[in-house]
Amino acid sequence: MLSIVVPCFNEEESLPYFVKEVEDVGKSISHSIEYIFVNDGSKDDTLKSLRELHKKMPDRVRYISFSRNFGKESALYAGLQAARGDLITLMDADLQDPPELLPQMIERIETSDIDCVGTRRQDRKGEPAIRSFFARLFYKLVNKFGDTEMIDGARDFRLMTRPMVDSILSMTEYNRFSKGIFSWVGFNTEYISYENRERVAGDSSWSFWSLFKYSIDGIVNFSDAPLTLAALIGSISCIAAVIALIFIVFRALLFGDPTSGWPSLASIVLFVGGLQLLFLGIIGKYIGKIFLETKKRPIYIVKETEKDLEKER
Ligand code: UDP
Ligand code: MG
Repeated sequence: MLSIVVPCFNEEESLPYFVKEVEDVGKSISHSIEYIFVNDGSKDDTLKSLRELHKKMPDRVRYISFSRNFGKESALYAGLQAARGDLITLMDADLQDPPELLPQMIERIETSDIDCVGTRRQDRKGEPAIRSFFARLFYKLVNKFGDTEMIDGARDFRLMTRPMVDSILSMTEYNRFSKGIFSWVGFNTEYISYENRERVAGDSSWSFWSLFKYSIDGIVNFSDAPLTLAALIGSISCIAAVIALIFIVFRALLFGDPTSGWPSLASIVLFVGGLQLLFLGIIGKYIGKIFLETKKRPIYIVKETEKDLEKER
């Protein structure tokens, strides 16, 4: 069986197109298909559409509805937990992940030793230039300094075998960054490229600011390189300070002590103060993560599933 996990946040308009297109593709797949929709606290009528879908295809459509918006990462986790298939795929509801790739992905995974077929965008067409620039910068930075490789342009759209999904589920951390998790668990992954697509309806829920925060999470969750960097720069400025001190003491002894040079002093004080605040901020970021992690809060809270609907009837 193939499980299709679909996180949905305000996707009422996209859902009918999504199901129709996947059903069309499904005809050319020999596996039976189960849908697991995760309603991530949508403000529109997504939940209502999901109930309808379940009534239409009761054995094949399941859904989990959260008590509020927990974010896509939580939705993916909940969906993977609920999936029962031997093959599991993650797909966005907005059809930016082309379902017609599925047969090809299934064929690849079944005829070879691969545990996961991922997809990546060939280009970033239709995206603001500034966003592409920062996205590229992000991937350069994480791959240079982080220990976990992240592929530029890789989507969350991927087909995975049961063992890989089980290993992802065994990572129960609260601060989830899927792109890192997929790569951290290992297994053989192969990527298929495809051309970027616009979403079929609705709006992307990502603002520039939310992407920025997401990329900081990506770095902080999978690498302690910023801490190493802070320590390194701290040591360098310490050494520089000692050298400068020796220089100043000897100059004062040899040439007397004219009281000048306060502008340079002021700028040094400002610079060092700024560095200290920056590094405190970086350390604070990690402590914040530890704080959230030690609370051991659930990754999501379910308000309703298709089982509740069945009980009512
Ligand atoms: N999504 C979600 N929770 C959120 C934000 C998004 O479940 O808080 C879902 C959304 O419904 C969609 C997928 O994640 O199926 C990708 O979101 P979107 O299309 O907004 O992101 P983009 O494709 O622009 O990266
Ligand atoms: Mg999208």
